[in-house]
Amino acid sequence: PEGRIEVAPTPRPARKRNDKFADFPELKDLKTQQAVADLLGVANPFFREHDGCAGATTDIDGKTHINFASYNYLGLNGHPAVAAAAKAAIDKYGVSVSASRLVAGERPIHRELERRIADYYGVESAVVFVSGHATNVAAIGHLLRPKDLVIYDSLAHNSIVVGAALSGATRRLFPHNDLDGLEEILIQHAHSHERVLVAVEGLYSMDGDFPDLARLVKLRDRYGFWLMVDEAHSLGVLGKTGRGVSEECGVDPREIDIWMGTLSKTLSGCGGFIAGSAALVEYLKFTAPGFVYSVGMPPAVAAAAIACFDLLDQEPERVAKLRANGVRFVEKAREAGLDTGSSTGLAIVPVMVGDSLRAVHLSNRLLERGVNALPIVHPAVPERSARLRFFITADHTFEQIDEAVAVTAEEHAGLAKAGFGIKMAAA
Ligand code: PMP
Repeated sequence: PEGRIEVAPTPRPARKRNDKFADFPELKDLKTQQAVADLLGVANPFFREHDGCAGATTDIDGKTHINFASYNYLGLNGHPAVAAAAKAAIDKYGVSVSASRLVAGERPIHRELERRIADYYGVESAVVFVSGHATNVAAIGHLLRPKDLVIYDSLAHNSIVVGAALSGATRRLFPHNDLDGLEEILIQHAHSHERVLVAVEGLYSMDGDFPDLARLVKLRDRYGFWLMVDEAHSLGVLGKTGRGVSEECGVDPREIDIWMGTLSKTLSGCGGFIAGSAALVEYLKFTAPGFVYSVGMPPAVAAAAIACFDLLDQEPERVAKLRANGVRFVEKAREAGLDTGSSTGLAIVPVMVGDSLRAVHLSNRLLERGVNALPIVHPAVPERSARLRFFITADHTFEQIDEAVAVTAEEHAGLAKAGFGIKMAAA
């Protein structure tokens, strides 16, 4: 028809060019590692394609595997009530809210979700961001200034580290879960800074252990810092009813100055939240660039999270099942002689391997035998502390857990016997 605009056919052939981005040293290192792995016949385990919704099992290359690589802790992603809530929200509001909430306006569903989160912790208010990572970056980056001090656990997530760097504040790390170490830093440095933030996690995602929250609150009372707890992995997981690390440690959640959490694990979506006092939330909602200048959360994601909170209330047995499964995994693994580090068996269990290439190879061997567990290698963990990380879900059966542990122990012993990795390092 007249006035029709001709659109060039897609995809267009890629134009070859002398790519300056290829010069990044990190990319060159990656290419070298990949070349060594190729030489040794070790396939790349990252970015594998999964078909369907990953839970206790997942389909890769047309084959069903027992899955330990998703944060679907309570098995709520794929739950019919969660999917129905998301679909209904799309029908009502569309897929996107199409701009920042500040200018494009609120949807009732945002407020409802924020109320649920605030009530969950018994605090005044909450605000949701479109990404968990961006939540820490936006909040920490905006709450602290160059005159301030941020102290965090040495295993704190990258988003905490990046937020602290963005703030320009002085940064100090304390050894993992070592609160004596934290107190030493406070004694030496806290008095010379205006504001001090101490950031910890409710459950550490690499090691599966958690901090002594009651003692942290006492330290906060003595030294007067802001205590921030990232509940990415502990919401829905720790505590008898899944209310997180405060329930696990018998601490009143209103004692914590800043609750942070993600929607990407138990709550089956993506995004993050900050919960605490009304002033804290108002400050972030009106002034934090990561919220003010970013689109509002998609309605379907907010609706899914609300449905997950409903299910947490209605089916607390999921939390108990997750705990039983994790304990089963850790006990069986330790019986089989595997090193699970300091894991409490609450949802996250590492199996220590040491050498990075050996960890990758072990993961590939497990995949061949129907078990999907991903390797964690440097720089995500310190050099020589590579591991396979197992995320347990409430939907796993004891049979699946027992089989996975048996296969892991067998393959792990096989590689150790062959000296894989050490031999490689010498080559
Ligand atoms: N905090 C912690 C402790 C995390 O482990 C993660 C990611 N797993 C994040 C924040 C970022 O969350 P998201 O993946 O939802 O962006």
